[in-house]
Amino acid sequence: MALRVAVVGGGPAGSSAAETLAKAGIETYLFERKLDNAKPCGGAIPLCMVEEFDLPLNIIDRQVRKMKMISPSNVEVSIGSTLKEGEYIGMCRREVLDGFMRDRAEKLGAKLINGTVHKLEIPGNNKDPYTLHYADHSDGSLEGTAKTLQVDLVVGADGANSRIAKAIDAGDYNYAIAFQERIRLPEDKMAYYQDLAEMYVGDDVSTDFYAWVFPKYDHVAVGTGTMHVNKADIKKLQAGIRARAAKRLEGGEIIKVEAHPIPEHPRPRRVVGRVALVGDAAGTVTKSSGEGIYFAAKSARMCAEAIVEFSNQGQRIPTEADLKVYIKRWDKMYGLTYKVLDILQSVFYRSDATREAFVEMCADMDVQKLTFDSYLYKTVVPANPLVQLKITAKTIGSLLRGNALAP
Ligand SMILES: Cc1cc2nc3c(=O)[nH]c(=O)nc-3n(C[C@H](O)[C@H](O)[C@H](O)COP(=O)(O)OP(=O)(O)OC[C@H]3O[C@@H](n4cnc5c(N)ncnc54)[C@H](O)[C@@H]3O)c2cc1C
Repeated sequence: MALRVAVVGGGPAGSSAAETLAKAGIETYLFERKLDNAKPCGGAIPLCMVEEFDLPLNIIDRQVRKMKMISPSNVEVSIGSTLKEGEYIGMCRREVLDGFMRDRAEKLGAKLINGTVHKLEIPGNNKDPYTLHYADHSDGSLEGTAKTLQVDLVVGADGANSRIAKAIDAGDYNYAIAFQERIRLPEDKMAYYQDLAEMYVGDDVSTDFYAWVFPKYDHVAVGTGTMHVNKADIKKLQAGIRARAAKRLEGGEIIKVEAHPIPEHPRPRRVVGRVALVGDAAGTVTKSSGEGIYFAAKSARMCAEAIVEFSNQGQRIPTEADLKVYIKRWDKMYGLTYKVLDILQSVFYRSDATREAFVEMCADMDVQKLTFDSYLYKTVVPANPLVQLKITAKTIGSLLRGNALAP
């Protein structure tokens, strides 16, 4: 019997899963409720994503080679001189990136359905199909036409507010709320951000995260995030980043305001029965950096690869145990990365004193190289022991100087 798979959500995760499944010749349905969706996002992607996911250069609006870390007392540290020729952080518009990845999955054979999945009916045994209830928007209407589809396996790639996660009782995760304003700047102000991104830290812009100014196609994205989710507080923090970057944003016009949850941890259950969660639905964003695009696409690809492998190219229906192999592989590959970034967040975003220490440390070339290599290539590259020792000594030195370790 031939395997039928539904992938719910056509963001980077869903399209990546659908592409791998379709390439293997598996009957794949990719659901996306809004084909021109512009996911609220900074749109920064690492270099390895461009290579691994074969992304054409024309979907990258800007190649950022310079970063500025800005401390609570406005000490600015420039980062980027350790970058080699051809190395950069890619900045994209999500509607462009998502559209490209989704169209490619469709071209490779996935059946793209412009539909909103409302309900997942779960069978009472491990053989019968799952039934998806959805509104088909192909007639152009918002309410759509009610339809159903039966499949053997479901990949939940429907983001942080995942309905699929709710349907399988995957459990909750803590989340931060990120708030972002898109600001169109006068030409001379925009020129400053040509290939430069800024990260601001301080209690005034976020008590537990960072705030940013990222260059986009013809504007900048100015935003902040916090786990202490409260509407009034977020507005105060956003006012904080606007005040800090005021001179550089002078004459700017707000063209869009957006907010969205960012998961902080994986859900307690990422595979239940023949349903697997990937990307934000599973909780694959990293702490400290809040990075999620690459990890969404990668987790989905790894999940789809396990499906291809255990279904024998679509000839057999994988079991819950088969799908859980994807989780084991994922945790083995990235467990350490998540831990390190988790620790970094709790050490360095604790107070303004620790943040000053953090920015001071970023001036060190070895720290810059290690950070950039880890970000661009997604490997926790162990530095040689001498460099490691130097970095550790510098870290402690910076923390002590700022009296940041005082309780
Ligand atoms: C303000 C902000 C800034 C960020 N900046 C960055 C950054 O610079 N770099 C970075 O790497 N990460 C960033 N992130 C995180 C990043 O946006 C996410 O981790 C990433 O989008 C996750 O991809 P995904 O495919 O799992 O989910 P999503 O991108 O959320 O995609 C889910 C898709 O599913 C669709 N969908 C949802 N429900 C249904 C349904 N019921 N039926 C059909 N379709 C459905 C949605 O329309 C959407 O297209 C940021 C997040 C925020 C909020």
